[in-house]
Amino acid sequence: MQQEARRLLQTGKTIAFVPTMGYFHEGHLALMREGRKHGDALIVSIFVNPIQFSHSEDFKTYPGNLDRDVSLAESVGVDLIFAPDTGAMYDNAFQTYIDLEMLPGYLCGTSRPGHFRGVATVVTKLFNIIKPHAAVFGEKDYQQLVVIRRMVRDLNLDIKIIAIPTVRESDGLAMSSRNTYLSEDERRSSLSLFQALKKGQGSAAQGIKDAKQLIREASELIRAYPYTKIDYVAVCDPETLEDVDLVDRPALMALAVWVGKTRLIDNMILKPIED
Ligand code: AMP
Repeated sequence: MQQEARRLLQTGKTIAFVPTMGYFHEGHLALMREGRKHGDALIVSIFVNPIQFSHSEDFKTYPGNLDRDVSLAESVGVDLIFAPDTGAMYDNAFQTYIDLEMLPGYLCGTSRPGHFRGVATVVTKLFNIIKPHAAVFGEKDYQQLVVIRRMVRDLNLDIKIIAIPTVRESDGLAMSSRNTYLSEDERRSSLSLFQALKKGQGSAAQGIKDAKQLIREASELIRAYPYTKIDYVAVCDPETLEDVDLVDRPALMALAVWVGKTRLIDNMILKPIED
């Protein structure tokens, strides 16, 4: 892959890159379509990164279908897929990590210790292998996006980071490879995430500024659905991810909810009423 990237650069081509864990859905394809606009060559990686999963998580059962992914990627104009095996990315003596100080201390970072260290490390490795001019990430994984943006600034990486809005099913559920884990009943309850965020947006737009109240309303709505267990519901600053007390400027409502044995995340920007 490094040789191929070098060859592309030597012929004066620019490279756009979309990192993924595979098992593509429309969200991934939206990132690829956007990526197409940002480089002469479009490269997609498929790699389920072991170091961003804890032992109790779904690394071993994460869904995959390389043949299907390849044909979907071809259909949106991807030039190259990089799908390394674990050993090619991490040899037995691997010991160098990228760790951010503050951002992993919030939201998903609190229930997934080490997750963002794993993400920042693998994305840096992929950037070094693929040498892109631009890389595309989804707002669905909002904290990941903020972490990557910060890392790119902190380490002076010469890569343009592009964000794509969350692609949803027709009823509002954010698309995710993990949605395939849901039973029919759980699928119905998974709608609670979107409904709670819409409720938060609606209340903020009607003038409710108290973050605690917005969180309470959203949490009550989620708890009313069977099979749900809240990991967190937060209202925070969209850049620092610190909790806010008052939504008197745009704030991020972010949540993670267990639906049965599946942990789902989603987020939306809340905009306060114009005074
Ligand atoms: P994943 O394969 O789940 O690691 O996701 C790869 C990339 O696709 C990440 O940048 C995600 O944020 C993005 N992504 C995943 N689901 C969606 C979605 N529903 N809408 C937009 N982007 C998404």
